[in-house]
Order: sequence, then structure tokens, then C-alpha cells
Amino acid sequence: MRMTRLFTKTLKDAPADAESANAQLLIRGGFVDQLMAGAYTYLPLGLRVLQNIQRIVREEMDGIGGQEILMPALQPADPWKTTGRWDDPGKEVMFQFTGAGDRDLTLGWTHEEIVTPLIKKFIRSYQDLPILVYQVQDKFRNELRAKSGILRGREFNMKDLYSFHATEQEMEAYYDTVLEAYRRVFARCGINAIPTEASGGAFSKVSHEFQMPTESGEDTIFVNAAGDYAWNKEVAGNLKDGDPAPDGSGPVREMKAIEVGNIFKLKTRFTEAFDVRFTDDAGAQQPVYMGCYGIGPSRVMGAIVEALHDDRGIIWPKSVAPFTVHMVSLTSKDDAVRERIAETAEGLYEDLAKAGVTVLWDDRSDLSPGAKFADADLLGVPLRIVVSEKTLKEDGVEWKARDSAEAKIIPLADALEEIEEFGK
Ligand code: ATP
Ligand code: MG
Repeated sequence: MRMTRLFTKTLKDAPADAESANAQLLIRGGFVDQLMAGAYTYLPLGLRVLQNIQRIVREEMDGIGGQEILMPALQPADPWKTTGRWDDPGKEVMFQFTGAGDRDLTLGWTHEEIVTPLIKKFIRSYQDLPILVYQVQDKFRNELRAKSGILRGREFNMKDLYSFHATEQEMEAYYDTVLEAYRRVFARCGINAIPTEASGGAFSKVSHEFQMPTESGEDTIFVNAAGDYAWNKEVAGNLKDGDPAPDGSGPVREMKAIEVGNIFKLKTRFTEAFDVRFTDDAGAQQPVYMGCYGIGPSRVMGAIVEALHDDRGIIWPKSVAPFTVHMVSLTSKDDAVRERIAETAEGLYEDLAKAGVTVLWDDRSDLSPGAKFADADLLGVPLRIVVSEKTLKEDGVEWKARDSAEAKIIPLADALEEIEEFGK
């Protein structure tokens, strides 16, 4: 992508109401645009990041047998009335309105009420189980406070997986499989999200949130000494910083955190409401056990920015970055040099594209080097490559990783190979 063709521009200042780091940096960089509190347009750069996160999530869900579907966001009230959730939590989180023919409608804030009657149509016997379905879709919630940029949207992206099993044991085992898949998702996204014990609601003892520690988090968690398990405030009782962990494993640290994922054993809460049963091998009718598992890719994107930025901008991990390389070509007063810079940059740009390395090329000629470098830092692409009079004098290009202060010249002859290697 050439920056002269990119329709978005970076902004010097964030809008006054953008309080959180993710909102400030994502808006200034032209990753997202705020339509209103809690509703954002994903611009070309931001959509690339979101899609990279979604790709990782899809790969991991497919890897544990998930089959992707897409359910309607627009829904009738009836199934919600069946489970009692039209009135509770009802208006608190649901957008409820009346459509044509005086029909009560909502926009999905979660999909148990849609997916459970759906799979009922396909379950006959135990041989049809388990059923593992997921979708990646926008959800709608009437959030009271939508102040933390894309961390808390009124419309936001969610991956929701639902599993249906013949026995409680199978549901429990699959829950653990999902927990491991979630660890891989967050590790691949470059964030440290700690499995955190949370209350299971009315139907099971515990659920697990994945919490990413950060000062800007809305949640409070107590992390074990090893840093690999935590308890949320709800289940921690009167636990204080430094107290022994509930599992007896040494002192906990109290931390602020952002919930990026949540897994839940629903057991028969919804399958009973919709009378979903199957015939076991002895011919008897049995209840179906269910689990649900959410990750918010748009919140993950915001969480990555909260965790990985400095005072100059974002520092994207390679796995989700909008591009692998940010190539900056500078100009020169000398016509011949200017031409050579342009040719070198263009050649490298094309070779990298052929090699499958994504490049954002700052080919703008009307900006100072300082302004271009500031944009590179703000946008946070992992590797900055500079082609300039100075680097060409050394027959090279300048190489600087966004997460390092060190810049070096590498020979032009090795540039393609070394950058390709970096992109792997
Ligand atoms: P929270 O406690 O932060 O309000 P939740 O517990 O209601 O979230 P879930 O219903 O478990 O969230 O949703 C699954 C995932 O969807 C969350 O872990 C989070 O990543 C994401 N998510 C939930 N609400 C929002 C929101 N308003 N904006 C963006 N992402 C969200
Ligand atoms: Mg939650």
C-alpha cells in the first residue's frame, strides 16, 4: 500500500473525548473513526489488524473442531421470551425495538437463544454429538459507559463458539480444550491474558475469564505468584494484595486488567429451555450439555494497543500488524539521487510484494523526514526500512525495528532476503 493512495491521514491530536490510549492512538493513526461513543468505523489500516486477529481466532477454533456459521444479528423476541432474558437482563443490555407488523425485535448481544433452537433441528441421536459451532460477528449491547475506545463498544466484534455434548463429562473435557486454544490465541496475538477464575452463575461453579493485566483495565484480579492463574474480584472474597492464593500457592498480586475472553459451562440452562434432547444408545431421551466461549477481536485489538505502545505510538506484534514493513523513501534536491531513491524503493516494494511480505510505503514527497518518521512510530508497523541519499551512499537501506531504539544499515543486496526472514 502506497501512502499517497491511502485515503486516511494521521492526525496531530486525538479528539478531546478520546480518553484511553487505544482510542487516542487508533484514531490519530487512522485505524478507526468514531461515529459515536461505542460505535467505530474500521478504516483500511484498522480493518487489516482486526482481520489478522480474526484469522488467528478462526484458525484456533477450526483447530478444535469448530464449524463456522453466521447467524442473524436481527432477531425476534420470542426465543428471548422463552428463556426469560427478554425481561432480564432485557433493556439493560439489549436494544429492543418494534419492527414491521408490530413485531418485537432485538439485535443480538449473544446468541444462545438463536443457536440452541438451531442445533435442535439437527440432533437426533448421540451420534450427532458433539456439535461445535462458532461465528465471528458484530454484537450489540446497550452499554451504559462506552468510554474506553474500542475496548467497550455498543456495537463490537465477537467470536462466539457454542458446544453441545451428550454428557457433562464430555462438556467438561471440551471446556478444557477451549481453554488451551484460548491460551494459543492470546499468545499468538502477542498479549499476556491470564486464565482467571470467575463465578459460574446459577448453573455451574466456575467460569474462566482471560484477563490481560494493564493499568487501564476496568477489572480487578488477583494473580498467583507464577503469574499464570488468577481469581477475579467476584470469587476472591476479601482477598487482598499479598494474601496467600485461594489454592494455597503463595502470595497474590492485585492488578487491574481487561477481560479479553470468557468461557462458560452452561450445562442445560438453554437446552432445557428449548427442550433439546437426544436418544442415547439404549433408546432413552437425554438432555444435551452446552458450553459457550467468547472472545472479542475488537476488544483484543484495543487491549494490544493498551499493552504495547510508547509515547510515540503503537508497537504492533508481527502477527496482527497491518503490514510487516513500513518503508520510508526520502527525497533529495539532486534529480539523479531522487530518481535512484525512487527506483530502489519501488524495486524493493515490488520484490517484497512478490515474496508475500506486506509493505506500507511512505512514498509521499511533501513531508519532512521527521514527519514521516513520526508517522511510522505512530502507526507501529514492526519493521521500518528507510531508503535515502544517506543509505544509498552506503549501498544500503536503514533497518529499524519498532520495538528497538537501534538503527543499522544493511546492504541493498541482502535487503530482500533479510526482510523476508524478518517477516516469517
Ligand atoms: P464485560 O464484563 O467486560 O462487560 P462480558 O463479561 O459482558 O464483558 P462476555 O459476554 O463474556 O463479556 O463477552 C465475551 C467477550 O466479548 C468478552 O470477553 C470481551 O472480549 C468481548 N466484549 C464483551 N463486551 C464487549 C464490549 N462492550 N465491547 C467490546 N468487546 C466486548
Ligand atoms: Mg465477563
